[in-house]
Amino acid sequence: MFDLVIRDALLLDGLGSPPKRGGVAVKDGRIVEIGRILGSSREVVIADGLALMPGIIDNHTHYDAQLTWDPWASPSPALGVTTAIIGNCGFTIAPCRKSDRELVMKNLTQVEGMSLAVLRAGLRWEFETVPQYLDMLERQGSALNVGVFVGHSSVRTYVMGEAATERAANAEEIRLMKHLVLEGLRAGAVGFSTSTSPAHNGEGGKPMPSRLAADDEMRALVCALGEVGHGVFMLTKGGHTKISFLEELAAQSARPVIIAALLHSSTNPDAVFHDLQKIQEANERGRKLVGAVSCCPLAMEFTLHSPYVFEGLQAWQPALPLKGQAFTEKLKDAQFRRSLQEELAKPAHFRLFNGEWSQVHVVQSGRAELEHRSIADLARAAGKDALELMLDIALDENLDTVFSALLLNSDEAAVGRMLKHPHSLVSLSDAGAHLTFFNDAGFGLHLLGHWVRELGVLTLADAVWRLCGQPARLFGVKQRGALQVGHHADLLLFDPATVERGATRRVFDLPGGNPRLTSSPVGVHGVWVNGVRVVGRDGTLQKGKLPGRLLREFSA
Ligand SMILES: [Zn+2]
Repeated sequence: MFDLVIRDALLLDGLGSPPKRGGVAVKDGRIVEIGRILGSSREVVIADGLALMPGIIDNHTHYDAQLTWDPWASPSPALGVTTAIIGNCGFTIAPCRKSDRELVMKNLTQVEGMSLAVLRAGLRWEFETVPQYLDMLERQGSALNVGVFVGHSSVRTYVMGEAATERAANAEEIRLMKHLVLEGLRAGAVGFSTSTSPAHNGEGGKPMPSRLAADDEMRALVCALGEVGHGVFMLTKGGHTKISFLEELAAQSARPVIIAALLHSSTNPDAVFHDLQKIQEANERGRKLVGAVSCCPLAMEFTLHSPYVFEGLQAWQPALPLKGQAFTEKLKDAQFRRSLQEELAKPAHFRLFNGEWSQVHVVQSGRAELEHRSIADLARAAGKDALELMLDIALDENLDTVFSALLLNSDEAAVGRMLKHPHSLVSLSDAGAHLTFFNDAGFGLHLLGHWVRELGVLTLADAVWRLCGQPARLFGVKQRGALQVGHHADLLLFDPATVERGATRRVFDLPGGNPRLTSSPVGVHGVWVNGVRVVGRDGTLQKGKLPGRLLREFSA
C-alpha cells in the first residue's frame, strides 16, 4: 500500500531529460516507483496531464529570522518551493551573543529591509551558536526543508564586537572566526556566505562587518570548507572583488563558489557578461564557479524613510547615519543634492541605481495626480531636475510617498542570455528580506510561466533542471532535486499552460500587524514536502503540518 500516488502526469525529472507521461508512487516520504504504477494507495491524485516536477530549491533566501515565528516560510511553499537555503550574503542571526541582539536586528533592518518592530516582536532568540540555532530550527520544524549558511558578518561580530564594522581582523581573531565556521559546518551548515558589496550597510550606515575583511581573513574562512570537505562558498560581490581572487579561493578550498548578484544594468550592459566570461574561463581551468542570476526584473517599492535604492551611492553616505530632522535637513541641502547629481552623471561599473528616472514612478502619494507617473515625466512637466523633484515631493509628504523603481534586469534579451549561460545559477529571490520593497519568492513559477511558456527562452525540462537538479548538485543536497526512486518526495504539480506567479499585493500579517508584499501562485495544483501535502489543489497553503527537514548532511 502506497501513501500517495500521482497518476497520469507529465513527468519532468529535474535532470533535464525530455518530459514523459507517467506516475509517481510515494511511501514513507520517498519516491518508491516511477512510470506505470500498479497497486493501491491511501491517496490518489489523477494529474490528467498536469506537469509533475521536484519541488523548487530556492537557493537565495533570508528566512533566518522569519522562520523563528513563521515555520511556514510564507509565501514560498505555495509558490512551489520545497527547500530554502537561508543565511545568504553573510547576514545571519547566529552566532549571536545576547548583548549583540539589538545590533544584529538593527543591521538586518538596514541591510535586508526588515522591520525592526517585526524583528523585536517576532524573533525568538533561543540560541547563541550556529549549532544551537540549527537545533532550534529542527525542534520547531518547518513546512519546507531548510539549509543554513554560516554567515560571515555574524561570525565577525561574535568575535570582534563593535570593531567588526571598523577594521581588519588580526591573526587571533581570524583563528577564532575560522573555529566558528568549522563548528557550524560540522553541525550541519550548508556552506559559508559573505558580502563585499558596498550596497550592504548596517545600522547608522556603517558597512556590514564582512566588508572589512582583508584577503587573508577571507582565505582562512573559505578554506574551512575545504577542511570539512563539503559546503559552498557564497558571496555577494562588490565591484572591487576580482573574480581571479575568487577563483584562487575555489582552487585553495576545492569547493564551489557562488558569485552574486549578477543583475543586468542597461547603463553598463556588458559588465555581467564579462563576469560570466571570467567564470566560464575559471571552469575551463577546472574550478567550480557559478554566477547567481535572476529571472525577475528588479523592481522595488520604497519610501525615502528607507531609500535602499540610493544607499549604495557614495554621495548618499553623509545621510545614512542621520535620522528625523537632521535627515530631512540633509535631503534639502543643496550641496548634498549636487554631489548626488554629479555621482549619478558618472558611469559606474556596478550600481543599483543609475539615474533611470523614467523607471522611477510615484505609487502612492497624498496628491493623486502624481500617482503612476514617472519622475522623468513629472520633472519635464515641472521644468525641474528629476532628483530635486523627487526629494521635494517626498519632503512635502513627511517622506511617506511610495515610489517604485525598475532598476536592473529589465532587458529581456540580455537576461535570457544570462539564464541560458552554462555557468549561471537561477537565484536571488531574496525571499524573507526586503518585504516591503519587492517579492520574488515566486521566481520559479515566473521562470516556468514567463521564460518557458511566454518567451520560449528555456525548455520546460531545462528550466526544471535549473530550479531543482542543478542547485541540489551544487549544494550537495542529498536525494532531492530529481524525480528518482529513493529520492525524498518533494513534488510540485502544476499546469504548464497557466503557471505564473500572481500579482504582487500588500498584506498586513507580520508580527504586530506590519505589512509585506506577497503573491499567490497561478496554475499550482499541489505541493508535497517529504511526501506530505502542504499546498492544496487550489494553490493555498495548508497550515498545520510541518514536514520539512533541516538539511544537515551534504555530499562532497
Ligand atoms: Zn541576499
